[in-house]
Amino acid sequence: MQVSRSTWDEVMAPNYAPAPMVLVRGRGSTVWDQAGRDYIDLAGGIAVNALGHAAPELIDVLEDQGRTLWHLSNAFANEPAMRLAAKLIDATFADKVFFCNSGGEANEAALKLARRYAFDHFGEDKAEIIAFDQAFHGRTFFTVTVGGQPQYSDGFGPKPGAVTHVPFNDLDAIGSVFSDRVCAVMVEPIQGEGGLVAAEPAFLQRLRDLCDAHQALLIFDEVQSGMGRTGDLYAYMGYGVVPDILTTAKALGGGFPIGAMLTTDQVASSLVVGTHGSTYGGNPLATAVGERALDTISRPEFLEEVRRKAGLLFAGLHRIDDAHPLFSAVRGKGLWAGCVLDEAHAGQSKELSAAALDAGVMVLRAGTEVVRFAPALNISDEELAEGLRRFESGVAAFLAG
Ligand code: PLP
Repeated sequence: MQVSRSTWDEVMAPNYAPAPMVLVRGRGSTVWDQAGRDYIDLAGGIAVNALGHAAPELIDVLEDQGRTLWHLSNAFANEPAMRLAAKLIDATFADKVFFCNSGGEANEAALKLARRYAFDHFGEDKAEIIAFDQAFHGRTFFTVTVGGQPQYSDGFGPKPGAVTHVPFNDLDAIGSVFSDRVCAVMVEPIQGEGGLVAAEPAFLQRLRDLCDAHQALLIFDEVQSGMGRTGDLYAYMGYGVVPDILTTAKALGGGFPIGAMLTTDQVASSLVVGTHGSTYGGNPLATAVGERALDTISRPEFLEEVRRKAGLLFAGLHRIDDAHPLFSAVRGKGLWAGCVLDEAHAGQSKELSAAALDAGVMVLRAGTEVVRFAPALNISDEELAEGLRRFESGVAAFLAG
C-alpha cells in the first residue's frame, strides 16, 4: 500500500499537523524522507532519541530481548524491570520505582501517589496541589489540569479540583499560597514546553523548604530535563535540591516508550497493592532498552561529552544571532536550547522552524516565541555543525521573507 503525506489527513484524527514530508529512515542524527532528501535532526523526537536513530546498542538489546520475552503483565516479575529499577535507584535519591509507558502517565502516578500519601497520613483535607503557569506535565486530564497552559485543559468539562497555579520563579507568590492543606508541589526544574525557562536555584530551594515546613511532597517532573539532557543525569543534581518524587520518560527509552516514577521508601509505602497500575508498565522489552540507555547515558564520560557539545551548540546559536540579529535571548542548559524571538519577530516560531526545515534541519518550537533544540546527546560534531549551518541558512531565508 502506497502512503504519502496526504494520506495522513485522510486517515488520522486531526489533532496533529505534521510537517509536509514523510520521514522513512534515520541513522545517528540524520533522517531521510520518502524522496531521499536528508535532514539533520536537532529535534530528537522532542528530547526522546537521546542516542540518535538506529542506535546500535539499542538495536542489539531490542533484538535480544525481542527473541527472549516481550510482555508478561505485572502479575509476574521480570528481570529487565528489576535491573533497570535497581540502576535508577543506584543513580538517584530514590528507593522505589513504578514503571509506566509515558511521561504523562508517570506524572499521573506521581499526582495520585501524592494525594494518597497525604490522605493516608493527614486526612482528606490535605489535597491541594501547587503548580506553575506555563508548566507542561502531559495530556491526561489530571496532568493537563496541573499543567499551566489552560488551552490544553479547557473545554473538557469539570476539571480535577484543588489545583492552584502561581507564576514560575515567583518567591512571593509561592509563599502566599502555601498552607498545611498543600499535599504536593509539581514543578519542572527547567520548563521545556514553556520555553526553556530554568528555575532559579533559590526558587527550587524555597519550594523544598516550604514542602518540608508544611509536610508536602516535592515532585520534580524531569520527563524532558532528565536522562542527561542538561549535562547532569537529572537536572536536580545540578541544583542540589532533592525531590520526594521524580518522573522520567522520553530519553529513558531512547525512543522506545517507557516512563517511570521514582520515590522514597516512605512515600512509596502508600502505593499498596491495587492502588495504581499499568498493563504494559515495566514490560521486559521496554525496560531492557531503558537499562541499556541508562547504562550508556549515566557514564561520566558520556555526560562530559554532552557538556562539551552543549558548548558548541550555544556558541553556534550565539554566532548565528550575531550575524542575523533575531533573538532576544538564547537560553537553556546542556543539549537543550531555546532561542527567544525578538520583538520584531514575535509570534513567528512556526514560520522560522518551517524555514529551518526547508533548509534541511529539524528543530522544535516551544510556544509561539521560542525555537527549541533537543538533539541526540551523542550527536557527532560534524552533524551538529552541519545542522547549525543549515539553521543559519533557514534564518537567512526567514529574514529575507
Ligand atoms: N512532562 C514534561 C516536562 C514534558 O515535556 C512532557 C512531554 O513533552 C510530558 C510530561 C508528557 O510526556 P508524554 O508525552 O510522554 O506523556
